[in-house]
Amino acid sequence: MSLILGCIADDFTGGTDLANNLVRAGMRTVQVIGVPDHDNPGAAPDCDAVVVALKSRTAAVAEAVAQSRAAAHWLRREGATQIYFKVCSTFDSTPHGNIGPVAEALMDELGADFAVVTPAFPENARTVFKGHLFVGDQLLSDSPMKHHPLTPMTDANLVRVLQAQLDPARGRRVGLIDYRCVAQGAAAIGQRIGALREQGFAFAIADALSDDDLRRLADASAALPLVVAGSGLAIGIPARHGLQPDAQAAKLPPPGGAAAVLSGSCSAATNAQVAAFIAGGGEALAVDPLRLAAGHDAAAEALAWARPRLDARRALLVYATAAPEAVRAVQQQLGAEHAGALVEQALSRIAVGLVEAGVGRLVVAGGETSGACVQALGIAQLRIGTQIDPGVPWCHAATPLRREGLHLALKSGNFGGSDFFSRAFGLP
Ligand code: ADP
Repeated sequence: MSLILGCIADDFTGGTDLANNLVRAGMRTVQVIGVPDHDNPGAAPDCDAVVVALKSRTAAVAEAVAQSRAAAHWLRREGATQIYFKVCSTFDSTPHGNIGPVAEALMDELGADFAVVTPAFPENARTVFKGHLFVGDQLLSDSPMKHHPLTPMTDANLVRVLQAQLDPARGRRVGLIDYRCVAQGAAAIGQRIGALREQGFAFAIADALSDDDLRRLADASAALPLVVAGSGLAIGIPARHGLQPDAQAAKLPPPGGAAAVLSGSCSAATNAQVAAFIAGGGEALAVDPLRLAAGHDAAAEALAWARPRLDARRALLVYATAAPEAVRAVQQQLGAEHAGALVEQALSRIAVGLVEAGVGRLVVAGGETSGACVQALGIAQLRIGTQIDPGVPWCHAATPLRREGLHLALKSGNFGGSDFFSRAFGLP
């Protein structure tokens, strides 16, 4: 059977989050890292959905656009009839992009004139009401996302946020499909899409307060060549193709090897997870960006520290995770981008060293951080297994560094309960 759904995720944790929702709803899904070889048609894995994971969320706009277009082109050639551009459930972006420019480029690539946009993921407390994104009970702009090191989100009005990212010369406008319309069902949403199209709108932020809202939106978007969404909308897509939840879809090889966590996320959730791990007696080592900038070889230090401590029953933690004030102080000295790059480089070198030293189960916290680590580990493809917490599944990947392959969990900064790091390994 040929590919049904082609997905483009703007970071690697977002890719596994999306794949997780598709697998749970019955779609056989494979995540590939980067755009596969162009000159090799028919190379798509045998599955219902492929997620092409890019590291494009904070890349230069032109690079994000080029990679996303190439991914869409490849997915369509492999048979995908709809492209799902997966963005962050907190709409992580800056006034320059990359959600708007990539969405416009995908429209051009697909010849689409309208796309529904919704980052809602109610299972993870992301809801959209009257175009405004809520994180739990807070507006996005009041939530800890206002402190994100790379993409601080200071406006919760997604109609405004997306409009500001679009090219004024193209004249595309952003409208709203509000919760009352969504509650009425797919037919009403379809009518609203028709009306917005006639009025010259090219995008609509769609409200969604519940999984049922997302299922109605997925039904109403069935004929659109492009949807732009968090992972939530995916729960409604497999059923539309007659697919049902299937436990076999999430089966991975048995895990083995030592356990470790690498954390480069500075989100509130990850800060709580690091604190809980340390408070629970877990062995942990901090990586200091200022020392990195001064030329300190943190990777060598971390690996020398970790090697004698590696254990299959107790996870080790190496982290750069810090509170917002500390991150701000570092960024003032080094610049946000340079600080981020230094930390990503150090953590990805540590990931390689840990796997070479016998780690077979690795949790990585942070989207950008996961992207850097997965690339350094030479991973091309991920199989998606069972979910640890909403949005975070265990995955299995072949890597040149470990014959049996590696079990990996890529945790988006904001996801997971405070005991995530110990629970992921089945520890008390
Ligand atoms: P999240 O999923 O929470 O967004 P990311 O890994 O995507 O996490 O982004 C966090 C960014 O912050 C990364 O680029 C990381 O290298 C950087 N970073 C991590 N720790 C620090 C720190 N202590 N100071 C400054 N930047 C940091």
